[in-house]
Amino acid sequence: SFHKSKGQHILKNPLLVDSIVQKAGIKSTDVILEIGPGTGNLTKKLLEAGKEVIAVELDSRMVLELQRRFQGTPYSNRLKVIQGDVLKTELPRFDICVANIPYQISSPLTFKLLFHPTSFRCAVIMYQREFAMRLVAQPGDNLYCRLSVNTQLYARVSHLLKVGKNNFRPPPKVDSSVVRIEPRKPQPQVNKKEWDGFLRVCFIRKNKTLGSIFRQKSVLLMLEKNFKTLQAVLASLNGSTGEAAGMDLGDQSMGMEDDDNEMDDDDDVEMDEGQGGEFKEKVMNVLKEGGFEEKRSSKLSQQEFLYLLSLFNKSGIHFS
Ligand code: SAM
Repeated sequence: SFHKSKGQHILKNPLLVDSIVQKAGIKSTDVILEIGPGTGNLTKKLLEAGKEVIAVELDSRMVLELQRRFQGTPYSNRLKVIQGDVLKTELPRFDICVANIPYQISSPLTFKLLFHPTSFRCAVIMYQREFAMRLVAQPGDNLYCRLSVNTQLYARVSHLLKVGKNNFRPPPKVDSSVVRIEPRKPQPQVNKKEWDGFLRVCFIRKNKTLGSIFRQKSVLLMLEKNFKTLQAVLASLNGSTGEAAGMDLGDQSMGMEDDDNEMDDDDDVEMDEGQGGEFKEKVMNVLKEGGFEEKRSSKLSQQEFLYLLSLFNKSGIHFS
């Protein structure tokens, strides 16, 4: 019996498994990370294609089944199974990740891979169709969102394969897609926390103008608070070491959810003229300087977002 809560949908079409393995471009020297091997249909083909498979599986019954399947075969000494939640497991070094994952961990897993400390060539992952389309969406596309911009900063993302729900047993409710994620090398030099905080604000409403988003009371209050905190830190550093300019603003871990929880209309109160005057002026000047006041996040490229963030930071305005 399968566990719905663990997202157990087993790939039953061998031609599809072949196609995924072939598109992954595995080399015979590759160490492959597989997440959620289940009963091992994909695992077997991965063992045929690469040097070693390290498989992380949550369900102990599946782990047993997997070990039983390969016991006494030439594959058994090239397969290492780690029992546990992949989100809580320290991942080993690997060359390539190939996985048919439980969809509920799509977003945290993707960012766990993107921020993996040792470099790997690529990840080839089965996602729910809409999530996949959001990953690859370009400015102006309907599904272009915070997830698209955020992922594409760290990786090149491409759609490999459409997969209908009837390729699985039991079939999930929605169709799927296989996506290739190739981490950019070198990785971009951004403060992850700052970048994430910035995008969260820009995508409060992706179809609103940035001018109206940044006039929102809640946004201005948050930015002004960060601004004042930073000014205070800078002042105290100036008093002591004088190394304020090179200060590291830190890069704490962040909760990375996939959706762009758009606010309710009641939340986005705009500041009245004359209210919050000076700081609001400062923020608006940054938008005007870059010509962003009338632009909307739904149409902005990653380069434009990076540029706008650099303008804010240059003015001492921070998002984390
Ligand atoms: N790879 C198999 C296949 O294609 O036939 C099974 C894929 S099934 C969609 C997802 C698998 O991930 C299940 O075996 C499930 O037990 C496992 N799983 C669920 N949550 C997990 C987690 N947090 N960490 C590791 N494995 C997990």
